[in-house]
Amino acid sequence: MPTEVLTGTTVAGTTTRPKIFRNFIDGEWVESRSGDLFEDRNPADTREVVAVFQKSNKEDVDAAVEAARRAFERWRLVPAPRRAELVYRASEILIERKEEYARDMTREMGKVLKETRGDVQEAIDTGYYMAGEGRRMFGPTTPSELPNKFAMAVRQPIGVCAMITPWNFPMAIPSWKLFPALVAGNTCIIKPAQDTPLSTFNFVRALVDAGVPKGVVNVVTGFGSAIGGPLTEHPSIRAVSLTGSTEVGRTVGTAAAKTFKHCSLELGGKNPMIVLDDANLDLAIEGALWGAFGTTGQRCTATSRIILQKGIYGEFRDRLVERARALKVGNGLDETVEMGPAVNESQLKTDLHYVEIGRNEGAKLLCGGNRLSQGEHEFGWFMEPTVFADVDRGMRIAQEEIFGPVVSLIPCDGLEDAVEIANGIQYGLSSAIYTRDVNKAFAAMRDLEAGITYINAPTIGAEVHLPFGGVKATGNGHREGGIGAIDFYTEWKAVYVDYSDRLQRAQIDRPE
Ligand code: NAD
Repeated sequence: MPTEVLTGTTVAGTTTRPKIFRNFIDGEWVESRSGDLFEDRNPADTREVVAVFQKSNKEDVDAAVEAARRAFERWRLVPAPRRAELVYRASEILIERKEEYARDMTREMGKVLKETRGDVQEAIDTGYYMAGEGRRMFGPTTPSELPNKFAMAVRQPIGVCAMITPWNFPMAIPSWKLFPALVAGNTCIIKPAQDTPLSTFNFVRALVDAGVPKGVVNVVTGFGSAIGGPLTEHPSIRAVSLTGSTEVGRTVGTAAAKTFKHCSLELGGKNPMIVLDDANLDLAIEGALWGAFGTTGQRCTATSRIILQKGIYGEFRDRLVERARALKVGNGLDETVEMGPAVNESQLKTDLHYVEIGRNEGAKLLCGGNRLSQGEHEFGWFMEPTVFADVDRGMRIAQEEIFGPVVSLIPCDGLEDAVEIANGIQYGLSSAIYTRDVNKAFAAMRDLEAGITYINAPTIGAEVHLPFGGVKATGNGHREGGIGAIDFYTEWKAVYVDYSDRLQRAQIDRPE
């Protein structure tokens, strides 16, 4: 299958010959009209070029849109249960290839193998769930206000959809978007993040091998600045779904509004975990480690603020620091490693910059804060797990998304104070509280301004059949996961069938 070709040349700095991947447009693997390429490097060892991809331009986007537009005319007429069977088959293929795709993902973005296996599994779970939706996609049938008249609402596909995805969940997030869009009868163009195109190719390869018709799914790789605009502005694209930073979300949302596209934005977070005096501390510390340092802190749901009631503050702080210091940082392909590298140099620089900011603001750096660059870490973007204590709620490290292994400990007086601190930010994605008091747990569930709240679990770990998304600057009101995704990728049509054989005027001809 012509998904890739060997270059025949050695890319600078490597000893292996990386594969060159082409765009996937109208069922064909094609080179970009730009003639330019870019490298996908391993952040744990930047000498390795994992693969080479097309640096696409507007012409490539236009070709993909045209293919998707033509394909829509056929795909929308395929019965939804048949469309769903294709999604089911793709999920079965992902199961067979789970290990291979997890390894590719660790090589291209660094997170440890058990997490990349989880990423592929999330795509599989999403596929199974959405395949079931093919036989549901329920709409209401409802009584008419007039006699001899039938009323119902049906879901219809929107048309051509564009998906723009980040690098931190490079298979799960494309699956949240592509699977429901396809089941609903849309055709798609996906632009993966420039750091992780391989995982999207692997995902789309499963769809291709499952038999997706030509033009129904298209992949265009490249940089957000060059093809993001053409994708979000193209008049034939009827919906755009972005997962990424709040800054890019603002740009995409503004551009999409000009042509009245449906627009789903899943953006940044600064997620709080509250630990009250009555909490199970062993459990809370375990959760904090996983929430703050899992995926090297590069989750939109990462625990980045730990709000501690004063009675347990000291013990929690000391025990967390001891555990954070002991975490094994390294290449995620090593099964004993607990935390991988930052995804790229720029993210590492951001992380280190925030360490400086925290120091200058007067927060107490208790562990970490440094780049790791000796021995096994020499060629990667590694950093120590970092804990700041005595952080004030208003400091920049307590307010801004860092997206790295840097966590802030903030003291609080009790539940009310904790919730005020938790809500005192622009974001509202995930949140957590550790307490054994059911009254406090329910009050927190009600009062935390977030799209997700966990009780006695960290801020990460969403399941695919529940709504996923956030409030405030984290999004624009849509949800991925579960039925919310079908809501986004369909339009409602109200249908009235009048079998009275006479003109009946709603609101006017009222039966006695
Ligand atoms: P990013 O915003 O830099 O990039 C996201 C995607 O947008 C990439 O594909 C990028 O190429 C593209 N892009 C960049 N500029 C664009 C433009 N002008 N027009 C159109 N597209 C453009 O984000 P990232 O660094 O890839 O990911 C990290 C961010 O994503 C964090 O802020 C994180 O919180 C967020 N995120 C949110 C969720 C969520 O569900 N809420 C999930 C994962 C990640």
